[in-house]
Amino acid sequence: MKLFSTIVLLTIFINSNAQQKRILLKPDRVFDGVEMLNDWSVIVQGKSILYAEPSANKPASDSTINMPGQTLLPGLIEGHSHLFLHPYNETQWNDQVLKESRAERLVRAVNHAKATLMAGFTTVRDLGTEDAGYDDVGLKQSINKGLIPGPRMIVAGRAIVATGSYGPKSDNTELNLIKGAEESDGANLTTTVRNQMGHGVDLIKIYADYRWGVNNTSVATFTIDEIKNMVEVAGTTGRPVVAHAGTKEGMRRAVEGGVETIEHGDDGDEKIFKLMKSKSVALCPTLAAGDTTSQYAGRKKGVDPEPNRIRLKRKSFELALKTGVTIVFGGDAVVFADGDNAREMEMMVDYGMKPLAVLQSATSVNARVFHSDDLGQIKAGYLADIISVTGDPVATIAAMRKVNFVMKNGVIYLSK
Ligand SMILES: [Zn+2]
Repeated sequence: MKLFSTIVLLTIFINSNAQQKRILLKPDRVFDGVEMLNDWSVIVQGKSILYAEPSANKPASDSTINMPGQTLLPGLIEGHSHLFLHPYNETQWNDQVLKESRAERLVRAVNHAKATLMAGFTTVRDLGTEDAGYDDVGLKQSINKGLIPGPRMIVAGRAIVATGSYGPKSDNTELNLIKGAEESDGANLTTTVRNQMGHGVDLIKIYADYRWGVNNTSVATFTIDEIKNMVEVAGTTGRPVVAHAGTKEGMRRAVEGGVETIEHGDDGDEKIFKLMKSKSVALCPTLAAGDTTSQYAGRKKGVDPEPNRIRLKRKSFELALKTGVTIVFGGDAVVFADGDNAREMEMMVDYGMKPLAVLQSATSVNARVFHSDDLGQIKAGYLADIISVTGDPVATIAAMRKVNFVMKNGVIYLSK
C-alpha cells in the first residue's frame, strides 16, 4: 500500500512537472483577440498562457513549435451550435427529432464535437438538443473528463417553448407528438426553469417567436411578463436567458424581458437594434443558416439572383452594424455541417463586417458576452486555447478554413 501511494505520488509529480514545460509558439503573426501583431511570441505552460508579447523580451522555453506562414489566434468560440442535429439536406429536422434513436443522436453529437474542435472551435454555446434531453450536459462532462475530444461546452439542455407553438407538428392534429423543446407557460415557467437548471444547463434558451400564426406565419410566443419571470428565476443563479427571435415583436418582447442575446434577428430594424444597443443585448445573426437553407431549397449561389429573404437579411445585418449592436459570432451550425463553422465568418465579411471585427467577434467578444473571462484572448494568465491557420485571415478570411494547430487547455489536439 505504501509503495503504491509512493508510485502514485511520484506519477503525479512527474506529470505535473511535464505539464509545466514551457512551449514556445512562433508564428508569423499573432491575433490576440483584439488586434493583429507582428514579431510576437507566445509561451504556454501547463493549461495557461505564460507569455504573449514582443519576441525580443521572451523568457526561456523548453521546446519550440515553429509556424512559418501562419497566424496564431485564440481558440474560436462558436456562438450558436446544435451538436445533436445534422444538416437538414441529409434528414429533415422533423425526422431527426421523431425517428432517430437517442443513441444515434449521441453518436452523431460525438462526431460533431470532434469535427468542431478540429476546425479550431475550442468552445461552443450549444443552444438546445432538440429532444435529446440533457444529453448535452453528459456530452460536456465526457469531454471535460477527457473521454472524447471536443470543445468546451456552454449548454442549454432542452430549451423552452410556449405550449402549442413548437414542432414537430402533424396534419393529424389529434396526435400528441413529442416536441423539439420543453413546453411550458404562465406560472409553470418558474418550475420549468428551475428544473432545467437542476439538470445542469448553463443557460436558458427560449423561443420568443415561432411559425405558429395563422397560415404558419412567424409570431411572438411568450408575453413580456413570462420572459421577465424566466430571466429573474434564471438570474438568481447567475444564468442568462437567450432567445430565438426573428420577428420584430418577438425581438422586442425578448429584449424588454431581459434576455442577453437575440438569436437570428432577421426582421430587426433600426428601432429594435437601437433598443438592443441601449439595453446591451447582443445579436447572434446566424447568416449562414438562411443562406444554406435557401441553397437546400434549390438556389444556386452566385448563379441565381438572391432571394428576397437573403436580401432583407443583408440589409438588416448592415443596419445592426451601423447601429453598433454587439455582434456575437454564431452560424447555427447544424443547418450546415459541423466543422464548416468558418462559413459564417466568410458571410459576415461578405455582408459588410470588417475581417478584424469578425475575428474579434469569434474570440474576445463572444468570450465577454458568454461570461468566459479566461478565454477569447492570447494574453498571459488566460487559458491556453490557441489555434493557428495558414495565411493572414485579415487579408483573406477564407484562411480560417486552413487550421493547422489546435490547443485546448494546453493540450495539443491537432498539429500539422
Ligand atoms: Zn439554432
